[in-house]
Amino acid sequence: MKDLSQPSTPIDDQLQVAQVQAVAETWSPQHVLSWAFRTFGKKVAISSAFGVEGMVLIDMASRISKNFRLFTIDTEFLFAETYNLMDRIEEKYGITIERVYSTLSPEEQQRVHGEALWTSNPDLCCNLRKVEPLRRKLDELSAWITSIRRDQTSVRSGAKRIEWDAKFGLVKVNPIVDWTSKQVWRYIHDHDVPYNALHDQDYPSIGCTHCTRAVRPGEDPRAGRWPGFNKTECGLHIIEPLAASSQVQAATAEGGD
Ligand code: SF4
Repeated sequence: MKDLSQPSTPIDDQLQVAQVQAVAETWSPQHVLSWAFRTFGKKVAISSAFGVEGMVLIDMASRISKNFRLFTIDTEFLFAETYNLMDRIEEKYGITIERVYSTLSPEEQQRVHGEALWTSNPDLCCNLRKVEPLRRKLDELSAWITSIRRDQTSVRSGAKRIEWDAKFGLVKVNPIVDWTSKQVWRYIHDHDVPYNALHDQDYPSIGCTHCTRAVRPGEDPRAGRWPGFNKTECGLHIIEPLAASSQVQAATAEGGD
C-alpha cells in the first residue's frame, strides 16, 4: 500500500491508476470509495454540486469514513434550495463543506466583463466561476471523487471508475459511473438521503439560477441546463488528452510487471 506520510508524484498517482483501473470496473461504489480514502488519505475529496448522484456519494462516504473531505464550487449564483441543502448536509453528516469561490465577485465580474455574462458568453462565465476555482482546489489534491454517470452526456460516456484526469493532472474517481438514474433514486429513497427540493419541481439537473430551468414532459433530463445554448457541460468533465497517458505507459513499462 502507498505510504501516505510521503508526498506522491503525478507519476506515482498515474501508476496507481494503471494498476487498478481494469479491476476497479468490477468494484462496488463503496469499494471504490474505500480504495480512494485508503490510497489518498486527506489528499482526496468529493466534489459535489449536490445533485442526487452527489448525495448518494456523500451518504455512502459517511458510512465509510467520519471525516471525509467534501468541496463545492460556489458560483454565488446558486438556488436558495441548494444553499438550504448544504446546511442540511453539514448538520446530518457532521462535516464542513469546503466552499470554493471565483476570484471575481459577481459585482467585479459585471464590472470587468459586462452585465449578464452568462447570456453573452456562458463558456467564459463558467470558466471564471467554475473551472478556474476548481483548478485551484484540485491543485491541493492527488485525487478527486465525482458523481458523474456515463449516460448523462456523450462527453461522460467513456468515463472509467478510476482514471487519470489529464486536464487537471490528478486521479479522478467516479464510483457510480455505471449507475442509472433509477438506481440513484432507489438509493436515495432506501437510505432516506436528503435531496434538493427542486428535484420535486421538475428540475432533474440543477446548476446556477441564471442557467437552469425546469424540464417539460418528455425532455432530456439535462435540457434545463443552459437553455438556448448548444452547451451541455460547464467544462469540469471535458477531457483534454495530454501526454500523460504516454508518460504512464512508459513508467509502467519500466517498473510494472
Ligand atoms: S452555469 Fe451559468 S451562471 Fe453559472 S457559471 Fe456557468 S454560465 Fe455562469
